[in-house]
Amino acid sequence: MSCLGEAWRQASRRIDRLDARLLLEHVCGCSHADLIAHSEREMSPAQAVDFARLVARRAAGEPLAYLVGSAWFCGLEFAVGPGALIPRPETELLVDLAARRAGTLDRPGIIDLGTGSGIVAILLARRCPRAALTAIDISAAALGLARANAARHGVHVRFLEGDWYAPAGSERFDLIVSNPPYVAAGDPHLCRNGLPFEPRRALTDGLEGGDGLDCVRRIVAGASRHLHPGGWLLMEHGWDQARKVRKLLRTAGFGAVATWRDGAGIERVSGGKRGALKPVQ
Ligand code: GLN
Repeated sequence: MSCLGEAWRQASRRIDRLDARLLLEHVCGCSHADLIAHSEREMSPAQAVDFARLVARRAAGEPLAYLVGSAWFCGLEFAVGPGALIPRPETELLVDLAARRAGTLDRPGIIDLGTGSGIVAILLARRCPRAALTAIDISAAALGLARANAARHGVHVRFLEGDWYAPAGSERFDLIVSNPPYVAAGDPHLCRNGLPFEPRRALTDGLEGGDGLDCVRRIVAGASRHLHPGGWLLMEHGWDQARKVRKLLRTAGFGAVATWRDGAGIERVSGGKRGALKPVQ
């Protein structure tokens, strides 16, 4: 049998000290203050076994968010699981830019393509209460998480299962947002920092030797058919993809094409406005 303090100390030799603390709090259902004030409290044998298992999984590289089943994004806690990407702080930029645009419109229709755990659509529904949100994903597992998250945060989002625009039929929107898979299939980043535990098809288009932008191309190609004139398309992308994404947007006939930098100063979101211009074929 070991007490909380001893379990924390021992685990901290194998994994990050903060991760050890969060796993211990998760297993024992206690707070940081409990850990400090009652570090001599014994763990039950079942808790000790659960904790040891989670520490071993964390030591093998599994992301903490999957082990505890939740992650924070824009100040809200979301359910996460291996069926969807773990929220990244850089995606806050996409939410901020979209909310700013939606805020200028009366009852905007917004569609989130590849919603994953639903964070972008749910945040937009909360920040823009007059907006009608649609969120699409090809993964039923991701939509399960997204529906649970929408219920948890008390917002209505219409979730549809399918490939990019397909479930939306011929419907048009005022704003299209997406954090699509954009990491090139050959990027060594895919093998690091817990990414091997995340769904590969949420991270990369999987095309060997490609630039990772296949999904971005598909989103851009379908955007004019699904945007009202004057509507905006905003997409997250990789640190070195902004120029290419802007070119794709301009070639497709978008105006006001621009890129915005995330909190780390990296070019992270690009977008444009559907004008009266006829798309260049
Ligand atoms: N920004 C993420 C990463 O580099 C990838 C997110 C995505 O593919 N949409 O880990």
